[in-house]
Amino acid sequence: MTADPVLTLDDLAKWSRAGVSLAVLGHPIRHSVSPAMHNAALADVARDDVRFADWRYFRFEVPPEDLPRALELLHRGGFHGVNLTVPHKVLAFGRMAAVDPAARPAGAVNTLLRRADGWHGFNTDGYGLAAALRENLGRDLAGAHVVLLGAGGAARGAAVECLQRRCASLTLINRTRTNLDSLLELLAPLAGGIPVTGLEPTSGDFARHLPAGALVINATSAGLKATDPLPLDLNVLPAPAAVFDMIYNPPETALLRAAASRGIPTANGLAMLVHQGAKALEIWSGVSASRTAPAMATAARAALAR
Ligand code: NDP
Repeated sequence: MTADPVLTLDDLAKWSRAGVSLAVLGHPIRHSVSPAMHNAALADVARDDVRFADWRYFRFEVPPEDLPRALELLHRGGFHGVNLTVPHKVLAFGRMAAVDPAARPAGAVNTLLRRADGWHGFNTDGYGLAAALRENLGRDLAGAHVVLLGAGGAARGAAVECLQRRCASLTLINRTRTNLDSLLELLAPLAGGIPVTGLEPTSGDFARHLPAGALVINATSAGLKATDPLPLDLNVLPAPAAVFDMIYNPPETALLRAAASRGIPTANGLAMLVHQGAKALEIWSGVSASRTAPAMATAARAALAR
């Protein structure tokens, strides 16, 4: 069997592969570049270390209602590790035998490690974000004034990471007030004195609330399609220091184009994807994320160009 096909629960029910198997579950999963990234990194490390010669990473199309059964079958089938993507990260949280303390506040897991008592959950998205900001923009979350767009799963993880790394202030902007309020409520006990503010993009007088030189992070899905509206009109902000968009396909969203045309440094979400993947592989294999990230980046770029 190759690592390429999109597999299903039926394939999982009759799983009998001898080597070390890893998987990503999502719905939809067809466009995921994670199998390409992980298998390239595994082939690369196997050249130096024969222990990894039989490690392979597979993708499974799993709708949300089948997640409990899939997790059970993966454990029974001897899978060593699992990645979760949309829409499973929050759904799986309550099904873990244990959750890494750093992943608990986000209420979401993207990396599962097999243990005898069940799956142990981790979240490497925050690490991926911080590593990407450093690599692409030379920026640290620590001490930064962060303007975070969105209040969904990705924004939740990013907001927790900002607070855990002690940003200077956190301003959340989301079009739906109720979702914004839920996130503000979740963050309140974590703020530890850091000012956390919530705004709707339509609430006029932005400049009064927002710090100059902020790090703007788009964690909305606005920009995935060419017809999407901008998640924020950059004209309403005092000049930001940099704009990061978690979206990597398309590689340049309208928000990044608008920022670049104003001379603001920009980066898309590709390095975040790579670094969260490299950290997941580190959790499963013990091979450091910095060792595998370059092979993952090359493979991700090639997969996206296809
Ligand atoms: P969710 O569906 O959980 O949240 C979507 C968010 O986007 C909500 O805040 C929603 O606002 C907002 N939104 C959607 N459409 C619009 C619009 N037209 N205008 C303004 N806001 C909008 O998605 P996720 O949080 O899981 O993912 C968000 C993005 O982050 C996706 O593009 C995803 O691909 C990317 N991502 C990238 C990663 C990486 O490694 N690079 C990792 C994880 C995510 P509302 O509350 O008003 O509905």
